[in-house]
Amino acid sequence: MKFEKRAVFGWGPSGATPATPRKGIAVHYDGSDQSLAKHKHAACRTYWRNTRKFHMGPSRGWADIGYSFAVCPHGIVLEGRGLNKVQAAQPGGNTTWYSVTFMSGPSEKPTDAQIKAFRELRSWLRGKGVAAALRPHSGFVSTSCCGNILRMMISNGTLTGGTPSSSKHPGSGTNAPPFPGRLITQPPVMRGDDVLTWQRQMRKRGSSITADGAYGPSSEAACRKLQAERNLDVDGVVGPKTWAATWA
Ligand SMILES: [Zn+2]
Ligand SMILES: [Zn+2]
Repeated sequence: MKFEKRAVFGWGPSGATPATPRKGIAVHYDGSDQSLAKHKHAACRTYWRNTRKFHMGPSRGWADIGYSFAVCPHGIVLEGRGLNKVQAAQPGGNTTWYSVTFMSGPSEKPTDAQIKAFRELRSWLRGKGVAAALRPHSGFVSTSCCGNILRMMISNGTLTGGTPSSSKHPGSGTNAPPFPGRLITQPPVMRGDDVLTWQRQMRKRGSSITADGAYGPSSEAACRKLQAERNLDVDGVVGPKTWAATWA
């Protein structure tokens, strides 16, 4: 994950109240198109600084920028409040959900790099005990945020591991079957043909797990072992990278 800390923007530690959001991630966007994909990343940093100024200014008066993180069209995660702070962006979920905003507006389709950065951020947060759930800002209050494009990407699984429509499957160029489009995880035990396909390949690699199509603790342990061997994030979740690594 490409990550820019607060210090990159010239900010000290966040003065926001501590909290432990664990329920999942609330997804946000910008209410107007920003065209940041057409500019160098420096424009994203300027945008992020301006967002904080606006949030701390007279119209909002918040203690800090409203979000914990942002993902930009260049595939970089920008730190806002960061870990373990109360959010300001989603009343109703400010102490219990993280907030991540896409640096794009209503008619801008997030770039593949941006979607990848979001998935990486989500996987990192899950490793810190944050639940898998994603919820649009509009799931808390009546708002247009996070727009129809992102709401669709939440409901069709694009943000959780489905392959962005315009990109190739991870592992293409190898004989890996296409990533199934959902993260394989437990508990609860997840079942399906995708689990079975993955388990069979793991057995070909020498794992002694049972190929029964049910992703339980022993499958997860085998997954973690593979991830450690391949220098992937060791989170026990079969996402696109782990899937590709299983056939690589
Ligand atoms: Zn929002
Ligand atoms: Zn950028």
